[in-house]
Amino acid sequence: MSDVTISEAEYHRLLKKAGEAFEPNPAKCRENGHVWKSLGGANAGCCRDCQCSIAVSHCIVCGDCDYGETPENAEIIKDCSFREELEAEAALDEEAA
Ligand SMILES: [Zn+2]
Ligand SMILES: [Zn+2]
Repeated sequence: MSDVTISEAEYHRLLKKAGEAFEPNPAKCRENGHVWKSLGGANAGCCRDCQCSIAVSHCIVCGDCDYGETPENAEIIKDCSFREELEAEAALDEEAA
């Protein structure tokens, strides 16, 4: 057992130094009061003609990146595939008319 205590940020810094990957955990970061900064938008890539933009953020303390994998972005991607279905249906209706 070791009685050495280090901060979480220090722990991650050491992990990185050791070349070990760790799972980004935005929820945990927010719990610890870390600030997440926007890296900008990325294409959601939900379908072939996807025009959706999702926000990608990273933690300024641990340097974690969420790669756009957030519940908000999951909704955007879900909406996109749903919209594509509706448009396909509308196109079929027009053909039938
Ligand atoms: Zn963090
Ligand atoms: Zn899309």
